[in-house]
Amino acid sequence: MSTMNTVGRPTTPNRVESKPATLTGGRGLLQDEHLIFESDGWGKTGVDLPEPKTDGSDLGGLVRKNPIGLPGLSEPETMRHYVRLSQKNHAIDLAIYPLGSCTMKHNPRLNEKIARLPGFSDIHPLQPTSTVQGALELMDTLAHWLKTLTGMPAVALSPKAGAHGELCGLMAIRAAHEASGQHEKRRKVLVPTSAHGTNPATAAFVGYTVVEVAQTEDGRVDVADLASKLGDDVAAIMVTNPNTCGLFERDILEISRLTHEAGAYFYCDGANFNAIVGRVRPGDLGVDAMHINLHKTFSTPHGGGGPGAGPVVLSEALAPFAPAPWVVHDADGYRLVEREEDEAAQAFGRLCAFQGQMGMYTRALSYMMSHGSDGLRQVAEDAVLNANYIKARLSDLMSPAFPDGPCMHEALFDDEWLKGTEVTTLDFAKAMIDEGFHPMTMYFPLVVHGAMLIEPTETESKQELDRFIEAMRALATAAKAGDVDRFKGAPFHAPLKRLDETRAARSPVLRWTAPEGSNIAAE
Ligand SMILES: *Cc1c(COP(=O)(O)O)cnc(C)c1O
Repeated sequence: MSTMNTVGRPTTPNRVESKPATLTGGRGLLQDEHLIFESDGWGKTGVDLPEPKTDGSDLGGLVRKNPIGLPGLSEPETMRHYVRLSQKNHAIDLAIYPLGSCTMKHNPRLNEKIARLPGFSDIHPLQPTSTVQGALELMDTLAHWLKTLTGMPAVALSPKAGAHGELCGLMAIRAAHEASGQHEKRRKVLVPTSAHGTNPATAAFVGYTVVEVAQTEDGRVDVADLASKLGDDVAAIMVTNPNTCGLFERDILEISRLTHEAGAYFYCDGANFNAIVGRVRPGDLGVDAMHINLHKTFSTPHGGGGPGAGPVVLSEALAPFAPAPWVVHDADGYRLVEREEDEAAQAFGRLCAFQGQMGMYTRALSYMMSHGSDGLRQVAEDAVLNANYIKARLSDLMSPAFPDGPCMHEALFDDEWLKGTEVTTLDFAKAMIDEGFHPMTMYFPLVVHGAMLIEPTETESKQELDRFIEAMRALATAAKAGDVDRFKGAPFHAPLKRLDETRAARSPVLRWTAPEGSNIAAE
């Protein structure tokens, strides 16, 4: 039996209850895959080497007595293990990845090609600078682009993520207050209720007391509340702009004026820079420090556990306290300023052992140069257009959290529209997985009940957006029509079904143990 699906292609209705479980755990050419420790590779080796001479060990009594605890897989076995695991992951190369606040845009392959050039990829951070002049020039050029795009005079490239950049910014702010003898009395950092969790966490980590600032009905910082909390005991404010509700802070100039009048610094969380890049320069808004997630705005991979990069641009007032190292260019070429006895006398220290994430610098600059300044401006315009398209096309079925006016680069819905359906935001998100779509960000920002935060980015075509929208509309219609079963146990089609997330968080099992009675020699 065949019908037409929502995008007009013939489809076979997928009746969950009529599907028998498979006998092997595999599904449609996807094999079930066990942990590598559980594979049958014990007692063999994947390589063919001559027998080692047993009397030649230099390790004396230190030779290990137990097996190493890894199976000896051959190359094809190893390849298959990791490729099978990779098939279980969602990837931006497979479909839209609408996680709000994460800016999951396409990673252009040109970036990858440039990052693999041997002059960038085969160098060592301890090489004499005379042998890596090209790499230093690249860092200097990236710094130039970041300063130009933000209208800020200095940048610290080395932080390795947005959160690390927040740490960098607040440490520079603390160093500035220490230098002016005000650190002892300025112990507070003001953070709006809608902030990303890393903001208060960073402030607390640097030793500050976090004070919350209220939000107005229309999703912006409550300026009157902020003004009432600003004083000579405040070190800084941390404000995201556009904020985590996907809205531009219209009072941003007033916010920065009040902050500076109180002698505090303005830390801007720049994770949402994609919405304004090329159009607004944060320096013109009075920002003193802002991290830029290269893995968001500038298309470098978020990488499953791999490196990101979170350079921090700094105002004139904070620039002297920037962490080492940084690149300078003089008559002798490019060099790194690293030591106190050089120009880094006031630097608050360093944030990492070496120079930061060279591979991310290379990809980000490749992205910037291939777009040019006009292309980057178009990035922001198209990202905002795509989010507004989604907002407009879903607002008749779902309830936008802030219906009045356009959004910036992400569309935020609450769960008002699910009232009376028995379906929750979590159920809805899990049902999206069954339909082939990675869920949007859920339950963030905390100020919006049952939040669903959708960030399409500019790299989705109208066709891809329509596909996503049609799936959302079909699910929303099913929820409203009382098709609760479709949601309550979802996902039905994923390798793992609904997990007990509370138990996973409360009693996580972080260590693999060999099954009872097995002869697997794990250590
Ligand atoms: C992503 C994000 C961060 C943290 O950045 P990481 O690179 O993940 O450490 C901070 N604030 C906001 C608003 C974000 O979206």
